[in-house]
Amino acid sequence: MIIVLGILIVIAFLLVLRPWERRVCRWRQDSRKLADGRVLFTCVACGAEQALPKGRTPTTCLAGDS
Ligand SMILES: [Zn+2]
Repeated sequence: MIIVLGILIVIAFLLVLRPWERRVCRWRQDSRKLADGRVLFTCVACGAEQALPKGRTPTTCLAGDS
């Protein structure tokens, strides 16, 4: 009986946290403009920074990249 309870707890844990899903970056445009005209974006989720030309927004997550 205790084993069944343990399995149920593990399944509930996996369903809630979904460790197989990668976290998606949530980009926010930084108010500070860069000197060369590009716009700086920062990720709220992982803290990554990306500078892009005006009018473009980041699509990929940089989490794990270094
Ligand atoms: Zn990110």
